[in-house]
Amino acid sequence: MAAARVDLDGNPIKAMTICMIGAGGFIGSHLCEKLMTETPHKVLALDVYNDKIKHLLEPAGSHPWSDRIQFHRLNIKHDSRLEGLIKMADLTINLAAICTPADYNTRPLDTIYSNFIDALPVVKYCSENSKRLIHFSTCEVYGKTIGSFLPKDSPLRQDPEYYVLKEDASPCIFGPIEKQRWSYACAKQLIERLIYAEGAENGLEFAIVRPFNWIGPRMDFIPGIDGPSEGVPRVLACFSNNLLRHEPLKLVDGGESQRTFVYIKDAIEAVLLMIENPARVNGHIFNVGNPHNEVTVRQLAEMMIEVYSKVSGEPPLESPTVDVSSQEFYGVGYDDSDKRIPDMTIINRQLGWNPKTSLWDLLESTLTYQHRTYAEAVKQALAKPAAN
Ligand code: NAD
Ligand code: UDP
Repeated sequence: MAAARVDLDGNPIKAMTICMIGAGGFIGSHLCEKLMTETPHKVLALDVYNDKIKHLLEPAGSHPWSDRIQFHRLNIKHDSRLEGLIKMADLTINLAAICTPADYNTRPLDTIYSNFIDALPVVKYCSENSKRLIHFSTCEVYGKTIGSFLPKDSPLRQDPEYYVLKEDASPCIFGPIEKQRWSYACAKQLIERLIYAEGAENGLEFAIVRPFNWIGPRMDFIPGIDGPSEGVPRVLACFSNNLLRHEPLKLVDGGESQRTFVYIKDAIEAVLLMIENPARVNGHIFNVGNPHNEVTVRQLAEMMIEVYSKVSGEPPLESPTVDVSSQEFYGVGYDDSDKRIPDMTIINRQLGWNPKTSLWDLLESTLTYQHRTYAEAVKQALAKPAAN
C-alpha cells in the first residue's frame, strides 16, 4: 500500500474538494493535471472553455481520476450556480482573469471588470460560507521599481534594495491613468486589499499568489492556429509563433525590459504546497517566481532562437529579430514594467519552496512541445494561398 501523504508538519493530508475557477486556462490546466495525477483531491473545474483540460476529461470515464474531476461550463459574470459550487467545495482557487498585456489598453473596461468586479462575488461567497480562498493576483501589483526613477548612471540602480520586490515592504508604483497596463495592476491590487480586509474583519481564510512570468506548454495560443489570427498573446507564444513561421522575433521598444521566468511545473509545486498546508499559508501573500532566471526580452529572444534551432533541427533565422515600437505593436497607451525580481523570503520560510529549472531547460522542454504541437499546422497554414 502507498504511504499516506503528509503535510509539511507531518500530519496526514485529507482528500478535499476544490472549486477551481478559470481551470481551463494555462495555469489551471497544469494544476488540474497535478491534482489528478498525484493527489486524491476532487476538482470542480469552472471555465467558459475546456480545450486545455480535454485530455483529463475525455474519453468520459476512461481515466483513473475520472470520478474526481467535473467540468462546469460557466461564466462567473452571470451564473447563479457559482455560490452552490463554492459551497460544495472545501477550498476555492480563483484564476479567472483577463491577464494579457495586449488587452489592457484595447479592452480596458473588460480588464477592470474581470480582475475586480467579477472577482467580488467569489470573495463574498467564500467569506459568507467560511470557505478557504486561494486568489491569483500578479507581480504587476508592484508596478515600476524604485530604481527605475534613479538617473541611468546611478550606482544605486545595482543595489537590490532598489529593485527586489518584497510582499510586505515594497511600494506599489503605478504610471498615469492613460497608461492602462496600470488599470490591470490597480484592479488586482484592490481585490487583494479587499480579500485582506475580509480576512481582518470577517475571518476569511485566504492566501494570495503573485505569479512572476510562469511559462510552459499550453500557454496562450498560436495566432491563426488555435487562436485569432490578429490576436497578440504573451511573449512566449508571440516568439514561438515567430519561430514556427520562420519570421524575425519582434522586440518591443528595443527589448530592454527585464523579466524573471519560472517553469510552470516548478510553480505548480508551490501551489500544491499552499493547497495542502492551510495553516502555513493563511493570511499570506506569496511571490512565486525564479529570481535566478532573469533576462532582458532581447536575451530571451536570442535564447529562444538558439533553443528552437536545437529542438527543431532547423538552422537559426538569418535575420533573427526586428525592433518595433510599443505603439505599433500594442497601440496607444501601452506602458511596461522595467524589472521584476521576486524576493523569496516568505515562501521559503512558510513552505520551504524553491524553483529548480533553469531558463535554458524550461525553454528546451517548452519549445519541444511547441514544435511537436504546432509545426505541421503552421506549415500547412503557410502553404495555403492567402484568401482574396
Ligand atoms: P489564462 O488566460 O490562461 O487563464 C484564465 C482562465 O480564466 C481562462 O481559461 C478563461 O477562460 C477563464 N476565465 C476568464 N474569465 C472568466 C469568467 N468570467 N468566467 C469563467 N472563466 C473565466 O491565464 P493564466 O496564465 O492561467 O493566469 C491565471 C491567473 O494568474 C490570472 O488571474 C492571472 O492574472 C494570474 N497571473 C498569471 C501569470 C502568468 O505568468 N501566467 C502572471 C501574473 C498573473
Ligand atoms: N514583448 C516583445 N515582443 C513580443 C511580445 C512581448 O518584446 O512579441 C515584450 C513586452 O513588451 C514585455 C515583455 O515582452 O516587455 C513581456 O510581455 P508579456 O506579454 O509576456 O507580459 P508581461 O510580462 O509584460 O506581463
